[in-house]
Amino acid sequence: MARADGSARPPHKDIGLMQRAVRCGARTRQGKPCRAPAVKGKKRCRMHGGAKGSGGQPGNLNALKHGYYSKAGVEERRRIRALLAFLAGRRKPI
Ligand SMILES: [Zn+2]
Repeated sequence: MARADGSARPPHKDIGLMQRAVRCGARTRQGKPCRAPAVKGKKRCRMHGGAKGSGGQPGNLNALKHGYYSKAGVEERRRIRALLAFLAGRRKPI
């Protein structure tokens, strides 16, 4: 059987490599650990969230929707309020 790199290698020699592959960390519906190999670079198999295109962006970017409550957003609004209060003559300069 020809391998991806073009070299010929008897199939039984590759079985050990396949058996040593990192396993999926998911639990099956029977509550047992999934025995399928994890997708390369991921912790889950193709059936448990490791499929191409699945999952969120790296860095939890999906959690940010508008930034209203982010540290920068809160600080920006605080500074604007302080500036408006100053301009209205109710507060000292920042
Ligand atoms: Zn799995």
